[in-house]
Amino acid sequence: MINPPTGPVPITVAHGDGIGPEIMDATLRVVTAGGADLAVETIRIGQSVYAAGNTSGIEPGAWESLRSTRVFLKAPITTPQGGGYKSLNVTVRKALGLFANLRPCPAYAPFVATRHPGMDLVIVRENEEDVYGGIEHRQTEDVTQCLKLITRPGTERVVRYAFEYARRYGRSKVSCFTKDNIMKLTDGLFHQVFEEVAGEYPDLDHEHWIIDIGAAKLADTPEDFDVIVLPNLYGDILSDVAAQIAGSVGLAGSANVGTDVAMFEAVHGSAPPLAGKDVANPSGLLLAAVQMLVYIGQGEAATRVHNAWLRTIEDGVHTADIHDPATSTTLVGTSGFADAVVARLGEHPRTLRSVAYPSGTGRFGVSVRERTPARKELVGIDVFVDWRRPIEELAGLLEGCSDPGLGLVMITNRGQKVYPDGIPETFCVDHWRCRFQGPDPDRPVPAEEVVALLGRLVAAGVGFIKTEGLFTFGGERGFSLGQGQ
Ligand code: NAD
Repeated sequence: MINPPTGPVPITVAHGDGIGPEIMDATLRVVTAGGADLAVETIRIGQSVYAAGNTSGIEPGAWESLRSTRVFLKAPITTPQGGGYKSLNVTVRKALGLFANLRPCPAYAPFVATRHPGMDLVIVRENEEDVYGGIEHRQTEDVTQCLKLITRPGTERVVRYAFEYARRYGRSKVSCFTKDNIMKLTDGLFHQVFEEVAGEYPDLDHEHWIIDIGAAKLADTPEDFDVIVLPNLYGDILSDVAAQIAGSVGLAGSANVGTDVAMFEAVHGSAPPLAGKDVANPSGLLLAAVQMLVYIGQGEAATRVHNAWLRTIEDGVHTADIHDPATSTTLVGTSGFADAVVARLGEHPRTLRSVAYPSGTGRFGVSVRERTPARKELVGIDVFVDWRRPIEELAGLLEGCSDPGLGLVMITNRGQKVYPDGIPETFCVDHWRCRFQGPDPDRPVPAEEVVALLGRLVAAGVGFIKTEGLFTFGGERGFSLGQGQ
């Protein structure tokens, strides 16, 4: 570990909308009293920035602060309804390359009600890829498409981050959830990279679950999991499930981590109906700030604040969202809760496990292995066609456009083979994937033959939407076979 920096650490802070300013004030008050040494730069984000005509919700000048401090403590914002506005979170994540989203989900039983008192897991969600690229198209009258991109380097760094995190924070097992029995190439790559990286960490257990049964198991016996790494969409959904079954989404903080830059925030939103009433729970943002203190090398302050917070929860000093006559002693508001945590600085929980963070910086880099690219060869083409007349007519036109070098192999509809040898029961829409390959499917096809084929299709009146090249990589097929092929 690198030595912690000395002197105040510059951070960028945004107070956000709704309950944001109240919970940020409470958070900064507690961490400062806990010994955090911060040089705060404040930026504006959210409603007022959107209203000023900036569709990304962040002032242009704010990027300068973020790029110089490289640490962002962010309160929730109110996202305007309707089109034209971009998600600030997605913008910040992508612009700063925040590839891993970390969400610790421990239970605080018996002080916060949960059916899973033994649970203490951390979700590590891939944050930039998958279906979150926003690459969507309407392709025909009936069909829309969203592109799911899983990359080797993107997967490798988030998976290695999960293993590295597990090792540094005394965790013993890393689990991975994918649906690679169906998405053999995309989720298959995520799973394959997981297995490869796991081999570098023989001191940690690892396991893979198909997402459906893995999610069921997570909801039933979350105490069996430790660190879970997932592709973006599954991670988005299951991190909320995990936080909720731990006791409350309102208590969860998250870290969005990139290469030497990170953003910390509560997982909840700006709760507009509670704004200005001094009733919101600042715990999610406070625990995110604890993660930030660990990240910037102020582990001692993080330890003091987190233990005082645990003791406050244990003492039954609760805000309305978690107040329960069975476990609570005192109902407090936002600032009253902050006062209670400040009053307990230096104390430890008596029942819940105390925390002890290292004093070195929590920043750590993860490398991506250099690889020699495999030999890539074009062996055919999938042509996607918009067609509303009978399939036999389409097949006839496509057979007529084939030549000895590049012939029609099959037509599928929604992935199901319908030609040759289709059956009338198969439900079809106006979107057909037509596969053309050479007589030997492993023989490379010159790109010129593909272009000539497309020309013949246009001349025959076949409207194509898009094409996907069929490639082999080092002789291995880089495309799926159709269902029924
Ligand atoms: P929300 O998380 O703001 O509220 C959901 C429920 O939880 C509400 O009942 C709310 O009162 C309660 N709640 C949330 N935080 C609380 C707290 N700290 N203490 C006590 N109770 C709390 O979600 P929503 O109502 O769907 O969204 C409100 C706004 O927040 C929307 O504009 C949404 O787009 C935005 N949002 C922003 C972020 C972010 O900035 N990261 C995240 C989620 C939602």
